[in-house]
Amino acid sequence: MLLGAPGTGKGTQAERLEQDLGLTHVASGDLFRGHAQQRTPLGLQAAAYMRGGDLVPDEVTVAMLRERLQQADARAGVVLDGFPRTLAQAEALDMMMGALARRIAGVLYLDVPDEELVTRLAGRLVCRECQAPFHLQANPFATCPYQKCQGEHLYRRDDDNPATVRARLATFHERTEPLIRYYRDRSLLVTIRGSGTLADVTAATLGAARSLASAALGPA
Ligand code: ADP
Ligand code: ZN
Repeated sequence: MLLGAPGTGKGTQAERLEQDLGLTHVASGDLFRGHAQQRTPLGLQAAAYMRGGDLVPDEVTVAMLRERLQQADARAGVVLDGFPRTLAQAEALDMMMGALARRIAGVLYLDVPDEELVTRLAGRLVCRECQAPFHLQANPFATCPYQKCQGEHLYRRDDDNPATVRARLATFHERTEPLIRYYRDRSLLVTIRGSGTLADVTAATLGAARSLASAALGPA
């Protein structure tokens, strides 16, 4: 699981973990944006919360994730990105894992100061086709990680404007930050300094994820 405020690099790191460790990237925000693009009832409901920088209600979010985690490609292991974001979601996830006879191998907390996040999100661009995140300065488009595009589908997310970013950061501190303690108490938390260069953060994240994965596969 990747835990961190908006803009800390969860999506970027999740892509690397997917490619390096053969895990399936499950991003709650991407699932909501997919529903919104398809204009499903769930997507239309979620879009209003997302625009305001608020969380989508737990019931809706948990139901969506429960369905996603039951799909065949989740069986080999997933990188959870953006879920859980509240204590109620964390408790629901524990129940789901129990029911699926799965467990959380570890939680990588990407720690970045707020000031840096505001600038980062202002320069973020996302590919509409493959969801890969880029950054105007820190991570400009070079090649598509999925060989699907030439960068022609990059766009700026509706919720990456300064006012919504500030609301999202406030939501993170209020609703999501308590999860740090929740997972630390369960000895699952690994803190990664997320404010270095992209190469440094990637090296730290991959190193931590590899040791968690080998511990999870090793003798119990
Ligand atoms: P970021 O991590 O950059 O803020 P995401 O793409 O993960 O962006 O999420 C975008 C928006 O989707 C959030 O601001 C929120 O409105 C909604 N969302 C995503 N995940 C959850 C969740 N687990 N619970 C409630 N709302 C969520
Ligand atoms: Zn692409």
